[in-house]
Amino acid sequence: MGIEQNIAYILERIEKAANRAGRNKDEIILVAVSKTHPIESILKAKECGINIFGENKAQELIQKYPLIDDVKWHFIGHLQKNKVKYIIDKVDMIHSLDSIELAKEIDKRAEKNQIKMRVLIEINIGKEDSKSGIYEEEIYSFMEELTKYKNLIVSGIMTIPPLNIDSDKTREYFRRMRQIFDEIKNLKYDNFDIKYISMGMTDDFEIAIEEGANIIRIGTGIFGKRIYKREGE
Ligand SMILES: *Cc1c(COP(=O)(O)O)cnc(C)c1O
Repeated sequence: MGIEQNIAYILERIEKAANRAGRNKDEIILVAVSKTHPIESILKAKECGINIFGENKAQELIQKYPLIDDVKWHFIGHLQKNKVKYIIDKVDMIHSLDSIELAKEIDKRAEKNQIKMRVLIEINIGKEDSKSGIYEEEIYSFMEELTKYKNLIVSGIMTIPPLNIDSDKTREYFRRMRQIFDEIKNLKYDNFDIKYISMGMTDDFEIAIEEGANIIRIGTGIFGKRIYKREGE
């Protein structure tokens, strides 16, 4: 299937999952994860109505950014502090805030650019060594620290659950995220505007929608399989 058919199929599945959960499909934001895919594919997706793209490497985002107009970019991968300055004026949201040091750097660069940056707190919901993100137990102390950084708009939470687990277990993790969201969403600070739960990828986005996701991040389901080059090629 081509990108156009893939998108039609994903949109149909989003609508069905939303209906099952008694939700409106229009409250679900689709981020098309274009990492490793060429600009031609991104242009094609844009023609099909996609207007938000997700990248997880600063270098790749910088290369693609000037090649397409009138779309938004979300940064979805682990972000090194020294890369913040390259992406700060290019992205609308950073999904992967995972340390106070990073918050401080984003705040500093946002101030220099005279913008406010929307950020989501990444939660390592499965407590995996291989993943970044804070543990759920840390969320309140983390958020308290974030009140200091006035050039951030703390907008919600994001997670990538453990891979290759059965779908009931995935659903439990998503449900836990929803509980955390419900606990924090009424926290009121000048720089908080908590409204997003970013969870759900190609293999689990329908479960995520059923459990309350309002941002989903889909790569493979739209662009097909990723082919990674080996280092140095
Ligand atoms: C790659 C990636 C995705 C998309 O994954 P697919 O399984 O291809 O849909 C979503 N979120 C993050 C953070 C990613 O790195």
